[in-house]
Amino acid sequence: MKIIKERKILQLELNNIQKDDSNSVGFIPTMGALHKGHISLLEKAKTQNKINIVSIFVNPTQFNNSNDLVNYPRTIEEDIDKLEKAGCDIAFIPEAKDVYQENTIIKDDFNFGHIENVMEGKYRKGHFRGVAMVVNIFFELIKPNRAYFGMKDYQQLLIIKSLAHEFHPNIEIIPCNIFRENDGLAMSSRNTLLTNVQREKAPLIYEILKKAKNKFKGIEIDELKEWVNKEFKKDADFNLEYFEIADSDNLILAENKHTHKSLIAFVAVNLGKIRLIDNIPIN
Ligand code: AMP
Repeated sequence: MKIIKERKILQLELNNIQKDDSNSVGFIPTMGALHKGHISLLEKAKTQNKINIVSIFVNPTQFNNSNDLVNYPRTIEEDIDKLEKAGCDIAFIPEAKDVYQENTIIKDDFNFGHIENVMEGKYRKGHFRGVAMVVNIFFELIKPNRAYFGMKDYQQLLIIKSLAHEFHPNIEIIPCNIFRENDGLAMSSRNTLLTNVQREKAPLIYEILKKAKNKFKGIEIDELKEWVNKEFKKDADFNLEYFEIADSDNLILAENKHTHKSLIAFVAVNLGKIRLIDNIPIN
């Protein structure tokens, strides 16, 4: 595996690789602190591309909270080891000043309409434009054939699909299933920040989502929201930020369950100080 830290070195490497049309390139952007969820994206990419690139970059422009940025877990040596073992071809690990060079487009160059304004977009102002900025820079540089995104960050996946549709129509966006711990907790770099007690409690999030799915047929949406609210209130360590049911195509929030073909239930919850998100297809 090659470890590349500079854009211009990656560019030279890519010039060589992409000279040959048969060399398809897969790209998996990450913020590091890698876990099996990230590796599952790489495993999928390996089945579809000749060369696979994983980036590790804790992107400052997508953090709306400077403490969150400072505290974000960083485990670069272990990450490199995991990528090597998993058969990654190139680990791209740039510095912020190299990523954001002077002529970088700014957040206001993007507008994703409704999908950037609900749920994560509502509670993390500017988050998705920061994501779009960095992914746009990486897409322009790497020009992959395919790029892989986890459905754990489902709203992000729709933002990226929209970005690709408008600016990078040649890049195929591949959604990847949520990878979970044995106890159901969605894998996340942030899970490492939980205390032991919090970690033991965390599977409740997915348990409530699964129960909500079971209840969905026999209950109205506002009643279901009420029920989820009450379930999280039973343990004071959990602080529910939102529970929403939205259309899987456009994230229109569903008020009536009969008017949408495909709905997903989304949750964001603070467990102590750690903010966790998850989702489940519900109908
Ligand atoms: P992150 O490093 O958290 O920015 O995640 C990088 C990519 O990995 C994103 O596309 C995430 O959606 C994806 N990802 C993170 N956790 C999981 C998971 N548990 N299952 C599947 N994909 C994931």
